[in-house]
Amino acid sequence: MELTDIQHKKGVTPREGDGLIVVDMQNDFMPGGALAVDNGDTIVPGINNLMKRFNEQNLPVIFTQDWHTENHKSFASAHEGKEPNDPHEEPGIGPVLWPDHCVQGSEGAEFHPDLKTAYAQAIIRKGYNQNRDSYSGFLENDHKTETGLDGYLQSRDISRIFVCGLALDYCVFFTAADGAGKGYEVQYITDLTMPVGSPEDSVSNALETMQEKGVEFVKSDAIIFDKNSKVKAV
Ligand SMILES: [Zn+2]
Repeated sequence: MELTDIQHKKGVTPREGDGLIVVDMQNDFMPGGALAVDNGDTIVPGINNLMKRFNEQNLPVIFTQDWHTENHKSFASAHEGKEPNDPHEEPGIGPVLWPDHCVQGSEGAEFHPDLKTAYAQAIIRKGYNQNRDSYSGFLENDHKTETGLDGYLQSRDISRIFVCGLALDYCVFFTAADGAGKGYEVQYITDLTMPVGSPEDSVSNALETMQEKGVEFVKSDAIIFDKNSKVKAV
């Protein structure tokens, strides 16, 4: 399955109770970065535009930020004789190993310089536990340790989330899938994400799994803001 096989919603109007989650728009995932996603930087203007519109409606924007320790277990360099993209499965790590990326405090862990970070009302960091990765913005890869995002959204009375960012087949996918698993209505914005594409079936697996979980797919130009429904500022 590819993105072209996905049925998209014709239109969706943001409303009170919605939030926009922007996943891992960090230098290391951009062209030239340590774990570069092809064309990852091309979605920055579209995300900026969408964040602006959420902001104008007083709807929250939340970032996630991959935030690893040095020698994190998800890095190939932490395993003797292993290379980035080598298959590797152990609890909380895998299915592949990565180059060193998004190390806490490094330039690679910073957000893309053109990303308008001022729009974010909260930033959820993840992947800081040495022996466990966190693809999802909600749960670490043991599928039970919370990052705090769910609590944040609940306390803000958010019931529907729009997700975008990097990468389609990893962190955005797992954020969307876990969000659906936790009972959120999930709108996956397919033109504001780009895939890693490793292993070969990662994109089709991601799309099929999201469909099974009831995630809905929408393009950014089908997100139609109703000027009359502006949520009042407190
Ligand atoms: Zn990572």
